[in-house]
Amino acid sequence: MRYFCQDHPETLTLETRVVDARPGRVRLAEHPFYPGGGGQLPDRGALSWSGGAAGITGFAVEDGAMWLELASAVVLDGAVECAVDPEFRRLMRALHTDLHIVNAVVYRAFDGALVTGVQMNADGTARIDFDLTGTDNDRLRALEGAINDAIRQDLPVRTAYMELAEAEAEPGLLRSRSVAPPPTEDGKIRVVEIAGLDRQACGGTHAPSTGYSPPLRILKIENKGKHNRRLRVGLDGF
Ligand SMILES: [Zn+2]
Repeated sequence: MRYFCQDHPETLTLETRVVDARPGRVRLAEHPFYPGGGGQLPDRGALSWSGGAAGITGFAVEDGAMWLELASAVVLDGAVECAVDPEFRRLMRALHTDLHIVNAVVYRAFDGALVTGVQMNADGTARIDFDLTGTDNDRLRALEGAINDAIRQDLPVRTAYMELAEAEAEPGLLRSRSVAPPPTEDGKIRVVEIAGLDRQACGGTHAPSTGYSPPLRILKIENKGKHNRRLRVGLDGF
């Protein structure tokens, strides 16, 4: 599924229309929300119509169609306006982009270490797990400088689509198997590139450049099993 927000992450309000409705649930012709996935939390936001408004409480895919769940049992019809919570989206875009930087820096420093899991939190922290065996945690902790250098350099972030076979042939591109997005219906993979630093398949919303984010701190490093090293990171003063 290709989301509107992947191509237009800056568009936070959108006028659209209802194509199907049930009490407290609605399908829209288009919407600007990120529904969650790949470790990124779903957008927060609201829907308004002539005579009312309701918060979005969730997203559900049914028979390939995306339903928005509302904090009201209303049955909607006609024109509606979507509004994404701007601060929450900004936080997710910054944090998500920073996790690509962390991933790239660890991948380089530790000989192609793969990501095994990612989860971002609403408080500006996140965890990212790497398949690393017998690693000195001080070496990991020391990467904070390189991570923040990449943020300070304000490197451009770009998105492109490429053929699945081509993506599979490029070493390191499908890096995090647990979080890689499925191909689009026409067999394409979405690739997010941080200029000069990183290229990887991803379906989330990212910053326009790395300097969009405040500095990132490594808060904690935990050993989660023999092959799993967990980094807890947090935005510094978002
Ligand atoms: Zn991403």
